[in-house]
Amino acid sequence: MTSYVIRGANILGETVNDITIEDGVITAIGTGLEGDETIDATGLVALPGLVDLHTHVREPGREDAETVLTGSKAAARGGFTCVHAMANTDPVADTAGVVEQVWRLGREGGYCDVQPVGAVTIGLGGSRLAELGAMADSAAGVRVFSDDGKCVSDAVIMRRALEYVKAFDGVIAQHAQEPRLTEGAQMNEGPLSGELGLTGWPAVAEEAIIARDVLLAEHVGSRLHVCHLSTRGSVEIIRWAKGRGIDVTAEVTPHHLLLSDDLVRSYDPIYKVNPPLRSNDDVAAVREGLADGTIDIVATDHAPHPMEDKECEWSAAAFGMLGLETALSVVQQTMVDTGLLTWAQVADKMSAKPASIGRVRDQGRPLEAGEPANIVLVDPAATRVIDARDTASLSRNNPYAGLTLPGEVVATFLRGRPTVRDRALVEGVTV
Ligand SMILES: [Zn+2]
Repeated sequence: MTSYVIRGANILGETVNDITIEDGVITAIGTGLEGDETIDATGLVALPGLVDLHTHVREPGREDAETVLTGSKAAARGGFTCVHAMANTDPVADTAGVVEQVWRLGREGGYCDVQPVGAVTIGLGGSRLAELGAMADSAAGVRVFSDDGKCVSDAVIMRRALEYVKAFDGVIAQHAQEPRLTEGAQMNEGPLSGELGLTGWPAVAEEAIIARDVLLAEHVGSRLHVCHLSTRGSVEIIRWAKGRGIDVTAEVTPHHLLLSDDLVRSYDPIYKVNPPLRSNDDVAAVREGLADGTIDIVATDHAPHPMEDKECEWSAAAFGMLGLETALSVVQQTMVDTGLLTWAQVADKMSAKPASIGRVRDQGRPLEAGEPANIVLVDPAATRVIDARDTASLSRNNPYAGLTLPGEVVATFLRGRPTVRDRALVEGVTV
């Protein structure tokens, strides 16, 4: 295997040094190091490979929208070396067979480790627990379970799931959406939903489930993860729960850090997402929550949809946005360039913590000699105008198209092999 020296990288935005990589491992960090190939990292920030806890790859079932391979390539371009693939595929990832298939496709593709998320209930039906133990014991070693897209709304099923996963240190990742309060919901409930005549998705529909679930997690002594929280009230509930010692973690998406519900005034379904874009006050609250550690991680909720499902009238359009290739830029703009987070904290919230929540042992590791060479090099001084066509994804539902965002991924290394180099995807990665 080729050895590399990454010359003069600003490691975590803290110290400038060389990094050498050989046989998939970081061999040294220091000055004047040598390797077969040199990567000039002057002015670039080096972070551990990013880990996404919330990605939709659409395979099996909707390979017209995304596949494990195209999603992996998009991930690599975004600086990710590991993504968690959500279970709402067709068939649903509710058996050992399906999760092993997704896991294997990721490994064969070689662009990114794809760690499957198992469904909590059979067929995401919400009524009978799926084979959680069999998925945990499979080659995929599933530790994160979620019916994402649907809420595990039955309190008894949620309790049983929380109890069950304790046996193998798993976690239930809840899509917090009280179903009765959100029937037909199209956008955030507020003055604008009334004005636009679109059915509102009230904050309480998210907050009520989070409040119930942190109490259930406390009652059974299990681990809960809250997906894509989006409201000020949700942040306050998580803050309260952590203060009480409840074992809960939470994520926020890049789009909830940057975009707000005023955009819906355009009636452009590119802004239709679940949970919906919220008010500017909610955006401020999730930024504060991420900065003070109430919210543990950023997760993309990358949700590819084919053109026909987005280029239609608002009420008929699918919920969801792309996110993998823009996540780091959005986090730089909203959190780093605003002084709310350092790059070292970004590494924690986009690599170390998500790997830890997912119990992925060889990802999210520190940049130190002897650790796996999963590394991303970012040019924080670059700016780019986002072009929806410039993507490795099969879909184009990019809500940032036309915006100028800071930062660009220059290189990504997965176990010592570049998947992105010179700001471009490396074609034909061999495993
Ligand atoms: Zn969701």
